[in-house]
Amino acid sequence: MSPEIYTMLELQSIWDKVLEAKNEITRSRHAIDFWRNEMKAMEAKMADLRSRVNQLKTNIKQKELELHDVEARIQFLDSRKNSLKSQREFDSMITELETLNQKKDEIENSMLQYMEDVDAIENELSVLQQEMPKRLNQIENDVEELQNKLELLQKEAEDNASQFNKQMTELPPDLRARFAKVIETKGNGIVPLENGICMGCHFQVPVYVKDEVAKSKAVTCTNCGRFLYFKN
Ligand SMILES: [Zn+2]
Repeated sequence: MSPEIYTMLELQSIWDKVLEAKNEITRSRHAIDFWRNEMKAMEAKMADLRSRVNQLKTNIKQKELELHDVEARIQFLDSRKNSLKSQREFDSMITELETLNQKKDEIENSMLQYMEDVDAIENELSVLQQEMPKRLNQIENDVEELQNKLELLQKEAEDNASQFNKQMTELPPDLRARFAKVIETKGNGIVPLENGICMGCHFQVPVYVKDEVAKSKAVTCTNCGRFLYFKN
């Protein structure tokens, strides 16, 4: 194996580490975003439940006022029962009382329903309130751990990148530029040639290329431009 090929293989292995760290950085960032969104979603859910409870309590108060009015009217009609002068007045009062009592039932039923809803939501809220600190704490720990990992990965990626740049100077300038271009665009700048097939793009290279590779010359695949080497 020529020194140039050897250097390119070493560069490739450093570059792989850079890429691996970068992928891991992306995954860690996504994980951090995911947990932060979970946290926000939990807080939003609780805020929503609280606002629903408040709305229901406002509704209950409103119904209390309505109930009070209806009851006052019923009481008023009852008090006048004995001072009625005709059957017509009596009939009309009975009809109104029936309507009022029906309305009273409806109001009481709504209030009952609202109160049941409040109970259900408050139960849900109290379960969440017990769970929240535990889960938030866990999420914060996870995020912190991920952030520490991120810092290490970033350091690792930088170290490898500078190692890569340093080692690049070992290649002759013309090769350096070509290798840099192919490794940046394709990720793998040098791949094995196996049975005349480029392992980067699975293209059968012409025989003359195969011969050059056999002589350990720095040649590229005629299809994808990656440098080729014989795997021993
Ligand atoms: Zn190829």
